[in-house]
Amino acid sequence: LGRRINSAVSDLTRSPNLDEKAFDGMIKEICKALLDADVNVKLVQSLRISIKRTVNFKDIPPAVNKKRLIQKAVFDELVKLVDPHAEPFKPKKGKPNVIMFVGLQGAGKTTTCTKLARHYQTRGFKSCLVCADTFRAGAFDQLKQNATKAKIPYFGSLTSTDPAQVAAEGVAKFKKERFEIIIVDTSGRHRQEKDLFDEMTQIQSAIKPDQTIMVLDATIGQQAEAQSKAFKETADYGAIIITKTDGHASGGGAISAVAATHTPIAFMGTGEHMLDLERFSPQPFVSKLLGMGDVAGLVEHVQALKLDQKDTMKHLAEGVFTVRDLRDQLQNIMKMGPLSKMAGMIPGLGQMMGGMDDEEGSMKMKRMIYICDSMTNKELDSDGKMFVDQPTRMTRVALGSGTSVREVEELLSQRQVMGQMAKRVGGMSKNMNKAQGAM
Ligand code: GDP
Ligand code: MG
Repeated sequence: LGRRINSAVSDLTRSPNLDEKAFDGMIKEICKALLDADVNVKLVQSLRISIKRTVNFKDIPPAVNKKRLIQKAVFDELVKLVDPHAEPFKPKKGKPNVIMFVGLQGAGKTTTCTKLARHYQTRGFKSCLVCADTFRAGAFDQLKQNATKAKIPYFGSLTSTDPAQVAAEGVAKFKKERFEIIIVDTSGRHRQEKDLFDEMTQIQSAIKPDQTIMVLDATIGQQAEAQSKAFKETADYGAIIITKTDGHASGGGAISAVAATHTPIAFMGTGEHMLDLERFSPQPFVSKLLGMGDVAGLVEHVQALKLDQKDTMKHLAEGVFTVRDLRDQLQNIMKMGPLSKMAGMIPGLGQMMGGMDDEEGSMKMKRMIYICDSMTNKELDSDGKMFVDQPTRMTRVALGSGTSVREVEELLSQRQVMGQMAKRVGGMSKNMNKAQGAM
């Protein structure tokens, strides 16, 4: 999926006539890729509309890095979809927290309930498991084996045919023994769907869980929406755990489930082993969905933009001046204007802009900022020497920002001038600190 989205965007940014038609074509291509990744059809529709709204094609100045802008819009929209802005359940210490698992047979409930019990166990919660799956022969055995491996106390019955009663017994026993996390595993299969849902409701009213968690298999694709909705209506769960994210599933189903039920994903299963459970957070999930490479850099980039320039003063005091510091300074100057005067205040910059009028100068500075915005965090926070050691970096940044290698070089030598100045200032302020310390 990531590759397809990236290539759709690349095709657009490479095409010489960057017109609105090409832009629409690219959005269509991205939506197709999302549909193939099992993101729900209606969601893709609304995504298409909001990307078009966010990236107002006509308003993008020519030098702005369109590729990043578009990718960021796709990224942001997907994060929005997968983030219901609701906190998943947080268990409380010193009281019993009863958690009931629901979900279809094979979704991964039995595996995951042991993982979760272990997760809380290692965080200091006294945890245990109750098997309320009396439907499947061998269900209790499976839970027993997992629980024993994880050293988690468990409860179940080999003979009972009343899951609500077994669940109630187990929960009562463990409550009495002052367990803090009591996880109740349930069945997921019945001859009739209605029977399954009836059973779920009966168990729920028997144990009154503090939290119900829906376990959802990431590989079920487009069924995710219907399935999560049906369970939501009956069991009104407050969190989702999505399993088998280690497989080939593209994860679009998870997005659909969250969007359909407005329920947060609390964890995700990343393998069959007991330790394969990770906390879910929207940003890394979406960047994985979109293909790590470019998008990981993009997230970094977006975060970098949010950093303000407090760091520059701190850096100066330490005698350091990074590429990012230069970027922040350029941005500030542009805000302050008039440029001809302001540029003169930065060593070296006045010379570089000599003979330019304000408009030319401001264009020049904008291009320098675009160059910075095409760099990774690591590059921004460096002194720029890595570009000299690896000239391909320079080419990449020039291409990414729609500028030239010569301009990137120019920016880096500007950074060098500032770096030397910072060293002097930093040395001075260090001496001053020393002097003050001596007083
Ligand atoms: P249940 O019927 O809902 O209780 O599902 P189970 O816990 O029995 O799991 C069904 C199968 O899925 C088992 O073979 C598990 O090992 C496997 N499984 C569960 N979670 C994951 C996961 O996160 N990744 C992988 N690869 N397999 C999983
Ligand atoms: Mg099971």
